[in-house]
Amino acid sequence: MSRRVTPAGVTYGVDVGGTKVLGVALADDGAVVAEHRVPTPFPASDDAPDGRTAAPGTGVARAVVAVVAALASDVARAGHATARGLGLGVPGMVDADGRLRFSPHLTGAHDVDLQSLVAARLAEAFGSPPGGAGALGVHARNDANCAALAELTFGAARGATDVLVVTLGTGIGGALVLGGKVRSGAHGFAGEIGHMVVDPNGPPCPCGGRGCWERFASGGGLARLAREAALAGTLTEAVRRAGGDPELVRGEHVTAAAADGDPGARDVVEELGWWLGLGLANLVAVCDPELVVVGGGLARAGEMLLGPARRALAALVEGGKARGEVPVVAASLGPRAGAIGAALALWEG
Ligand SMILES: [Zn+2]
Repeated sequence: MSRRVTPAGVTYGVDVGGTKVLGVALADDGAVVAEHRVPTPFPASDDAPDGRTAAPGTGVARAVVAVVAALASDVARAGHATARGLGLGVPGMVDADGRLRFSPHLTGAHDVDLQSLVAARLAEAFGSPPGGAGALGVHARNDANCAALAELTFGAARGATDVLVVTLGTGIGGALVLGGKVRSGAHGFAGEIGHMVVDPNGPPCPCGGRGCWERFASGGGLARLAREAALAGTLTEAVRRAGGDPELVRGEHVTAAAADGDPGARDVVEELGWWLGLGLANLVAVCDPELVVVGGGLARAGEMLLGPARRALAALVEGGKARGEVPVVAASLGPRAGAIGAALALWEG
Protein backbone atom coordinates (compact mmCIF):
# COMPACT_ATOMS: atom_id res chain seq x y z
CA MET A 1 0.00 0.00 0.00
CA SER A 2 1.35 3.44 -0.80
CA ARG A 3 0.91 6.38 1.52
CA ARG A 4 1.32 10.08 1.14
CA VAL A 5 4.93 11.25 1.34
CA THR A 6 5.31 13.96 3.97
CA PRO A 7 8.33 15.89 5.29
CA ALA A 8 10.16 14.53 8.35
CA GLY A 9 8.20 14.63 11.60
CA VAL A 10 6.07 12.49 13.87
CA THR A 11 2.38 11.70 14.10
CA TYR A 12 0.72 10.66 17.36
CA GLY A 13 -1.59 7.66 17.35
CA VAL A 14 -3.63 6.82 20.45
CA ASP A 15 -5.72 3.66 20.82
CA VAL A 16 -8.49 3.90 23.44
CA GLY A 17 -9.02 0.30 24.52
CA GLY A 18 -11.36 -1.31 27.05
CA THR A 19 -8.58 -1.48 29.67
CA LYS A 20 -5.78 0.84 28.53
CA VAL A 21 -5.17 3.97 26.48
CA LEU A 22 -1.99 3.30 24.48
CA GLY A 23 -0.23 5.92 22.39
CA VAL A 24 2.73 5.98 20.03
CA ALA A 25 4.67 8.66 18.20
CA LEU A 26 5.20 7.39 14.68
CA ALA A 27 7.98 8.78 12.51
CA ASP A 28 7.30 9.24 8.81
CA ASP A 29 9.28 6.10 8.00
CA GLY A 30 6.91 4.09 10.22
CA ALA A 31 9.29 3.74 13.18
CA VAL A 32 7.73 4.00 16.64
CA VAL A 33 9.87 6.61 18.40
CA ALA A 34 7.90 6.83 21.67
CA GLU A 35 5.21 4.81 23.44
CA HIS A 36 3.15 5.47 26.54
CA ARG A 37 0.03 4.04 28.17
CA VAL A 38 -2.40 4.78 31.02
CA PRO A 39 -5.39 2.75 32.30
CA THR A 40 -8.75 3.50 30.66
CA PRO A 41 -10.81 5.45 33.20
CA PHE A 42 -13.87 3.57 34.41
CA PRO A 43 -16.57 4.63 33.99
CA ALA A 44 -15.27 6.35 30.90
CA SER A 45 -17.19 9.54 31.73
CA ASP A 46 -15.17 9.71 34.97
CA ASP A 47 -15.90 12.04 37.83
CA ALA A 48 -14.59 15.56 37.92
CA PRO A 49 -11.78 16.06 40.49
CA ASP A 50 -14.16 18.02 42.74
CA GLY A 51 -16.52 15.05 42.95
CA ARG A 52 -19.20 16.30 40.53
CA THR A 53 -20.11 14.07 37.62
CA ALA A 54 -18.26 15.27 34.55
CA ALA A 55 -19.66 15.37 31.03
CA PRO A 56 -19.51 12.11 29.03
CA GLY A 57 -16.14 11.49 27.41
CA THR A 58 -14.27 13.73 29.83
CA GLY A 59 -12.31 10.90 31.45
CA VAL A 60 -11.30 9.45 28.10
CA ALA A 61 -10.21 12.88 26.84
CA ARG A 62 -8.17 13.45 30.00
CA ALA A 63 -6.44 10.07 29.56
CA VAL A 64 -5.65 10.83 25.90
CA VAL A 65 -4.18 14.23 26.86
CA ALA A 66 -1.99 12.54 29.52
CA VAL A 67 -0.66 10.07 26.94
CA VAL A 68 0.02 12.82 24.38
CA ALA A 69 1.83 14.89 27.04
CA ALA A 70 4.13 11.97 27.81
CA LEU A 71 4.73 11.28 24.12
CA ALA A 72 5.40 14.97 23.37
CA SER A 73 7.99 15.10 26.13
CA ASP A 74 9.80 11.97 24.80
CA VAL A 75 9.64 13.29 21.24
CA ALA A 76 11.09 16.67 22.26
CA ARG A 77 13.85 14.98 24.27
CA ALA A 78 14.76 12.83 21.24
CA GLY A 79 14.97 15.97 19.09
CA HIS A 80 12.28 14.98 16.58
CA ALA A 81 10.53 17.53 14.41
CA THR A 82 7.09 18.97 15.09
CA ALA A 83 4.12 16.63 15.43
CA ARG A 84 1.67 16.63 12.54
CA GLY A 85 -1.49 15.62 14.33
CA LEU A 86 -3.23 13.02 16.46
CA GLY A 87 -5.06 9.94 15.20
CA LEU A 88 -7.49 8.43 17.70
CA GLY A 89 -8.65 4.79 17.59
CA VAL A 90 -11.94 4.29 19.43
CA PRO A 91 -13.87 1.05 20.11
CA GLY A 92 -17.35 1.30 18.64
CA MET A 93 -19.33 3.04 15.96
CA VAL A 94 -17.41 6.21 15.03
CA ASP A 95 -19.07 8.29 12.33
CA ALA A 96 -17.30 10.22 9.58
CA ASP A 97 -17.26 13.37 11.77
CA GLY A 98 -15.44 11.64 14.64
CA ARG A 99 -18.49 11.24 16.88
CA LEU A 100 -18.69 7.98 18.85
CA ARG A 101 -22.31 7.02 18.11
CA PHE A 102 -22.39 3.80 20.12
CA SER A 103 -19.89 1.72 22.08
CA PRO A 104 -20.68 -1.29 24.29
CA HIS A 105 -17.20 -1.09 25.87
CA LEU A 106 -16.87 2.69 26.32
CA THR A 107 -20.31 3.42 27.71
CA GLY A 108 -19.37 6.74 29.31
CA ALA A 109 -18.56 8.29 25.95
CA HIS A 110 -21.74 7.48 23.99
CA ASP A 111 -22.68 10.05 21.40
CA VAL A 112 -19.66 12.18 22.22
CA ASP A 113 -17.75 14.09 19.53
CA LEU A 114 -14.42 12.75 20.81
CA GLN A 115 -12.51 14.33 17.96
CA SER A 116 -13.54 17.88 18.95
CA LEU A 117 -13.46 17.15 22.70
CA VAL A 118 -9.87 15.86 22.58
CA ALA A 119 -8.76 18.74 20.33
CA ALA A 120 -10.26 21.24 22.80
CA ARG A 121 -8.65 19.54 25.81
CA LEU A 122 -5.26 19.50 24.07
CA ALA A 123 -5.56 23.24 23.38
CA GLU A 124 -6.52 23.83 27.05
CA ALA A 125 -3.62 21.75 28.31
CA PHE A 126 -0.87 23.05 26.01
CA GLY A 127 -2.14 26.35 24.60
CA SER A 128 -2.14 26.57 20.83
CA PRO A 129 1.12 27.99 19.50
CA PRO A 130 1.76 26.74 15.94
CA GLY A 131 3.53 23.39 16.05
CA GLY A 132 2.66 22.78 19.71
CA ALA A 133 0.68 19.80 21.03
CA GLY A 134 -2.27 22.12 21.73
CA ALA A 135 -2.64 22.93 18.05
CA LEU A 136 -2.83 19.34 16.80
CA GLY A 137 -5.51 18.33 14.35
CA VAL A 138 -7.37 15.25 15.63
CA HIS A 139 -8.95 12.48 13.58
CA ALA A 140 -10.98 9.72 15.28
CA ARG A 141 -11.73 6.34 13.71
CA ASN A 142 -12.86 2.87 14.76
CA ASP A 143 -10.03 1.07 16.58
CA ALA A 144 -10.19 -2.19 14.60
CA ASN A 145 -10.17 -0.24 11.33
CA CYS A 146 -6.99 1.42 12.63
CA ALA A 147 -5.42 -1.94 13.52
CA ALA A 148 -6.28 -3.22 10.02
CA LEU A 149 -4.63 -0.21 8.42
CA ALA A 150 -1.47 -0.90 10.43
CA GLU A 151 -1.42 -4.61 9.55
CA LEU A 152 -2.03 -3.74 5.90
CA THR A 153 0.79 -1.18 5.82
CA PHE A 154 3.45 -2.80 8.00
CA GLY A 155 2.15 -6.14 9.27
CA ALA A 156 0.64 -9.52 8.44
CA ALA A 157 -1.63 -8.21 5.65
CA ARG A 158 1.09 -6.31 3.77
CA GLY A 159 0.78 -6.91 0.03
CA ALA A 160 -2.75 -8.31 0.30
CA THR A 161 -5.81 -6.72 -1.31
CA ASP A 162 -8.85 -8.39 0.26
CA VAL A 163 -8.48 -9.16 3.94
CA LEU A 164 -10.73 -9.78 6.89
CA VAL A 165 -9.14 -8.45 10.10
CA VAL A 166 -10.55 -9.65 13.42
CA THR A 167 -9.33 -8.30 16.78
CA LEU A 168 -10.04 -10.42 19.83
CA GLY A 169 -9.94 -8.29 22.97
CA THR A 170 -12.57 -7.61 25.62
CA GLY A 171 -14.97 -7.88 22.68
CA ILE A 172 -14.44 -8.54 18.98
CA GLY A 173 -13.51 -5.76 16.58
CA GLY A 174 -13.34 -6.15 12.84
CA ALA A 175 -12.36 -4.50 9.61
CA LEU A 176 -12.98 -5.29 5.97
CA VAL A 177 -10.13 -4.59 3.58
CA LEU A 178 -11.52 -4.75 0.04
CA GLY A 179 -9.67 -3.63 -3.06
CA GLY A 180 -6.67 -2.65 -0.92
CA LYS A 181 -8.58 -0.22 1.30
CA VAL A 182 -10.11 -0.43 4.76
CA ARG A 183 -13.82 0.04 4.06
CA SER A 184 -15.82 2.16 6.48
CA GLY A 185 -19.26 1.67 4.95
CA ALA A 186 -21.87 4.36 4.30
CA HIS A 187 -21.69 5.87 7.82
CA GLY A 188 -18.33 4.68 9.16
CA PHE A 189 -19.86 1.66 10.91
CA ALA A 190 -18.68 -1.26 8.69
CA GLY A 191 -16.93 -4.15 10.43
CA GLU A 192 -18.91 -4.22 13.69
CA ILE A 193 -18.68 -7.99 13.43
CA GLY A 194 -18.57 -8.76 17.16
CA HIS A 195 -22.29 -8.09 17.40
CA MET A 196 -23.46 -10.47 14.69
CA VAL A 197 -26.05 -12.58 16.49
CA VAL A 198 -25.02 -16.25 16.50
CA ASP A 199 -27.54 -17.43 19.12
CA PRO A 200 -30.66 -15.31 19.69
CA ASN A 201 -31.24 -17.15 22.98
CA GLY A 202 -27.60 -16.80 24.03
CA PRO A 203 -26.06 -14.83 26.89
CA PRO A 204 -26.75 -11.08 27.19
CA CYS A 205 -24.22 -8.73 25.61
CA PRO A 206 -23.09 -5.27 26.78
CA CYS A 207 -24.57 -3.90 23.51
CA GLY A 208 -28.05 -4.69 24.84
CA GLY A 209 -28.56 -7.69 22.57
CA ARG A 210 -28.25 -11.43 23.20
CA GLY A 211 -25.99 -14.11 21.78
CA CYS A 212 -23.61 -11.82 19.92
CA TRP A 213 -20.54 -13.51 18.44
CA GLU A 214 -18.23 -11.76 20.91
CA ARG A 215 -20.03 -13.43 23.84
CA PHE A 216 -18.55 -16.70 22.52
CA ALA A 217 -15.23 -15.89 20.84
CA SER A 218 -13.55 -12.89 22.56
CA GLY A 219 -11.64 -12.46 25.82
CA GLY A 220 -15.04 -11.92 27.44
CA GLY A 221 -16.31 -15.07 25.72
CA LEU A 222 -13.35 -17.07 27.02
CA ALA A 223 -14.00 -15.81 30.55
CA ARG A 224 -17.63 -16.95 30.27
CA LEU A 225 -16.75 -20.41 28.86
CA ALA A 226 -14.03 -20.77 31.51
CA ARG A 227 -16.35 -19.90 34.38
CA GLU A 228 -18.95 -22.42 33.17
CA ALA A 229 -16.32 -25.16 32.86
CA ALA A 230 -14.80 -24.27 36.25
CA LEU A 231 -18.18 -24.48 37.98
CA ALA A 232 -18.83 -27.80 36.19
CA GLY A 233 -15.56 -29.11 37.66
CA THR A 234 -13.71 -29.77 34.37
CA LEU A 235 -11.11 -27.05 34.75
CA THR A 236 -9.09 -28.13 37.79
CA GLU A 237 -5.66 -26.86 36.67
CA ALA A 238 -6.96 -23.39 35.72
CA VAL A 239 -8.89 -23.22 39.03
CA ARG A 240 -5.67 -24.08 40.89
CA ARG A 241 -3.90 -21.21 39.07
CA ALA A 242 -6.76 -18.91 40.09
CA GLY A 243 -6.08 -19.68 43.77
CA GLY A 244 -8.64 -22.48 44.05
CA ASP A 245 -11.83 -20.43 43.53
CA PRO A 246 -13.80 -21.33 40.35
CA GLU A 247 -15.41 -17.87 40.46
CA LEU A 248 -11.97 -16.26 40.06
CA VAL A 249 -10.89 -18.16 36.92
CA ARG A 250 -9.94 -15.74 34.16
CA GLY A 251 -9.06 -16.25 30.52
CA GLU A 252 -5.32 -16.07 31.12
CA HIS A 253 -5.50 -18.91 33.66
CA VAL A 254 -7.13 -21.06 31.00
CA THR A 255 -4.74 -20.18 28.16
CA ALA A 256 -1.72 -20.72 30.47
CA ALA A 257 -3.04 -24.11 31.62
CA ALA A 258 -3.88 -25.07 28.02
CA ALA A 259 -0.37 -24.07 26.87
CA ASP A 260 0.98 -26.49 29.50
CA GLY A 261 -1.18 -29.25 28.03
CA ASP A 262 -3.99 -29.44 30.60
CA PRO A 263 -6.82 -31.37 28.84
CA GLY A 264 -9.73 -29.47 30.47
CA ALA A 265 -8.23 -26.09 29.55
CA ARG A 266 -7.44 -27.31 26.04
CA ASP A 267 -11.11 -28.28 25.61
CA VAL A 268 -12.21 -24.75 26.54
CA VAL A 269 -9.72 -23.12 24.13
CA GLU A 270 -10.83 -25.58 21.43
CA GLU A 271 -14.47 -24.61 21.99
CA LEU A 272 -13.47 -20.94 21.77
CA GLY A 273 -11.67 -21.72 18.49
CA TRP A 274 -14.79 -23.43 17.14
CA TRP A 275 -16.88 -20.33 17.84
CA LEU A 276 -14.20 -18.18 16.23
CA GLY A 277 -14.29 -20.40 13.14
CA LEU A 278 -18.09 -20.23 12.98
CA GLY A 279 -18.05 -16.44 12.78
CA LEU A 280 -15.18 -16.50 10.28
CA ALA A 281 -17.15 -18.91 8.06
CA ASN A 282 -20.07 -16.46 7.94
CA LEU A 283 -17.78 -13.52 7.21
CA VAL A 284 -15.77 -15.38 4.55
CA ALA A 285 -19.08 -16.12 2.82
CA VAL A 286 -19.84 -12.39 2.81
CA CYS A 287 -16.55 -10.90 1.65
CA ASP A 288 -14.42 -13.69 0.06
CA PRO A 289 -11.07 -12.56 1.52
CA GLU A 290 -7.68 -13.91 0.41
CA LEU A 291 -6.54 -13.82 4.02
CA VAL A 292 -7.92 -13.63 7.56
CA VAL A 293 -5.73 -11.82 10.13
CA VAL A 294 -6.51 -12.41 13.81
CA GLY A 295 -5.15 -9.86 16.29
CA GLY A 296 -5.91 -8.52 19.75
CA GLY A 297 -4.74 -9.82 23.11
CA LEU A 298 -6.38 -13.22 22.74
CA ALA A 299 -4.42 -13.90 19.52
CA ARG A 300 -1.46 -14.57 21.81
CA ALA A 301 -3.06 -18.00 22.39
CA GLY A 302 -1.66 -18.76 18.91
CA GLU A 303 -2.09 -22.12 17.22
CA MET A 304 -4.07 -23.75 20.02
CA LEU A 305 -6.82 -21.23 19.14
CA LEU A 306 -6.21 -20.70 15.40
CA GLY A 307 -5.98 -24.44 14.62
CA PRO A 308 -9.54 -25.24 15.80
CA ALA A 309 -10.76 -21.99 14.18
CA ARG A 310 -9.32 -23.04 10.79
CA ARG A 311 -10.96 -26.47 11.07
CA ALA A 312 -14.34 -24.99 11.97
CA LEU A 313 -14.06 -22.42 9.17
CA ALA A 314 -13.30 -25.14 6.59
CA ALA A 315 -16.15 -27.33 7.86
CA LEU A 316 -18.80 -24.61 8.09
CA VAL A 317 -18.15 -22.26 5.17
CA GLU A 318 -20.21 -22.68 2.03
CA GLY A 319 -18.38 -24.80 -0.58
CA GLY A 320 -15.31 -25.20 1.63
CA LYS A 321 -13.57 -27.68 -0.68
CA ALA A 322 -14.51 -25.82 -3.87
CA ARG A 323 -13.45 -22.50 -2.40
CA GLY A 324 -10.01 -23.67 -1.30
CA GLU A 325 -8.29 -22.84 1.96
CA VAL A 326 -8.58 -19.30 3.29
CA PRO A 327 -5.39 -18.72 5.33
CA VAL A 328 -6.02 -17.65 8.94
CA VAL A 329 -2.89 -16.03 10.42
CA ALA A 330 -1.97 -14.15 13.57
CA ALA A 331 -1.50 -10.38 13.37
CA SER A 332 2.13 -9.31 13.56
CA LEU A 333 2.17 -5.85 15.18
CA GLY A 334 0.95 -6.88 18.63
CA PRO A 335 -0.80 -4.52 21.05
CA ARG A 336 0.54 -1.39 19.28
CA ALA A 337 -1.34 -2.11 16.02
CA GLY A 338 -4.32 0.10 16.88
CA ALA A 339 -2.18 3.09 17.90
CA ILE A 340 0.11 2.78 14.86
CA GLY A 341 -2.95 2.51 12.63
CA ALA A 342 -4.58 5.53 14.26
CA ALA A 343 -1.54 7.60 13.26
CA LEU A 344 -1.68 6.16 9.74
CA ALA A 345 -5.40 6.97 9.54
CA LEU A 346 -4.59 10.62 10.15
CA TRP A 347 -2.30 10.57 7.12
CA GLU A 348 -5.01 8.88 5.07
CA GLY A 349 -7.67 11.29 6.33
ZN1 LIG B 1 -23.55 -7.39 21.27
